[in-house]
Amino acid sequence: MTNLTVRTPEVPTKSIPQDAVAALRGKLRGVVALPGEDGYDAARTIWNAMVDRRPGLVVRCLGAADVIHAVKLARDEKLLVAVRGGGHNIAGHAVCDGGLLIDLSLMRSVRVDLAFGTARVEPGATLADFDKEAQAFGLATPLGINSTTGVAGLTLGGGFGWTTRKFGLTVDNLISADVVTADGKLVRASEKENPDLFWALRGGGGNFGVVTSFEFKLHRLGPEVLSGLIVHPLDNGLIGWGRLAMRAARELGIADRIMVLRDGTIRGGGPFFYTVGSFTCFEGKWKGEMTSQEHTPIVGTHPWARKVISIGFSGTYSDDGGELEAIALVGKRSFRFKSIYRLLVAD
Ligand SMILES: Cc1cc2nc3c(=O)[nH]c(=O)nc-3n(C[C@H](O)[C@H](O)[C@H](O)COP(=O)(O)OP(=O)(O)OC[C@H]3O[C@@H](n4cnc5c(N)ncnc54)[C@H](O)[C@@H]3O)c2cc1C
Repeated sequence: MTNLTVRTPEVPTKSIPQDAVAALRGKLRGVVALPGEDGYDAARTIWNAMVDRRPGLVVRCLGAADVIHAVKLARDEKLLVAVRGGGHNIAGHAVCDGGLLIDLSLMRSVRVDLAFGTARVEPGATLADFDKEAQAFGLATPLGINSTTGVAGLTLGGGFGWTTRKFGLTVDNLISADVVTADGKLVRASEKENPDLFWALRGGGGNFGVVTSFEFKLHRLGPEVLSGLIVHPLDNGLIGWGRLAMRAARELGIADRIMVLRDGTIRGGGPFFYTVGSFTCFEGKWKGEMTSQEHTPIVGTHPWARKVISIGFSGTYSDDGGELEAIALVGKRSFRFKSIYRLLVAD
């Protein structure tokens, strides 16, 4: 039996005995996937398909115990480690070349506790997984704008989305997290237990251990919302959005971006710089397509916001995040950091 060649932070190639891998396989509920084996490519393929890294081995975890075994192997063999949640990080931090990939993407359960108004969420869950489960009970916590993003990485980075103006950042709604630390222990982090670790998890990124479960506070929301786009020329758009953000009701979630429109989809000629603001208004119920008159009560009486040249739609809150999937495709190779705005309008 040949040994496995892997990478450590110090050296590009190191040999680990196949016995160690076989022993690991025997302990797991999930699986070890080596290059060429089932699940290897699925685990290393992430949202940004420009990232094409090949780990030395992958542990596809099904629970905290699997994570502990993986971390122990990494520690014993001093392996380079990457941790994958939803795999949405644009820079590809979820995957490493040559090292051990701890893949959490199969751990997607979401459990809503109606009595306490909380949810327990596993680290492979996407925003769609969380929203769909919580929305079945008319509940939600502030997450991002795109339903294929992972709850784990979003939360560890702070997290913001449509409902942040009303309910705060994602981390403001984090009650506790279960974490496997670098010494292979499972600990709880909350305001009361390991508060320093809890502080670090809330925005510090993924370097403080492997989170195996998140506990969130939930809020009543929807399920019907109104959402859509408001498009403006750049010169008055940014100022307009700023004013709107200051005056609009907290129930209005807005996200602004600058786009180059080349093909005259919205107006002829080009290129033009525009600001495109997406919005979701999540209190109340609207039917049919939005007109500028119907739009007014949502955003207040600000004249700028009446110039709607795109449409809004009335639908459920969990469908809302899915709207962006069509323009932020998983596995799109042409995606380049900072160029999503071109991608949105080109071709
Ligand atoms: C199209 C698009 C839209 C986005 N919209 C929003 C938005 O609206 N709001 C917002 O706040 N952010 C948004 N983001 C950013 C997104 O939140 C981050 O990219 C986030 O890191 C993705 O989380 P993930 O679990 O999918 O990532 P992954 O790529 O799996 O992981 C990201 C980082 O977190 C670490 N990590 C993941 N899981 C764990 C874990 N369980 N324990 C320890 N470390 C872990 C990874 O090692 C990696 O370093 C968006 C990104 C994209 C591409």
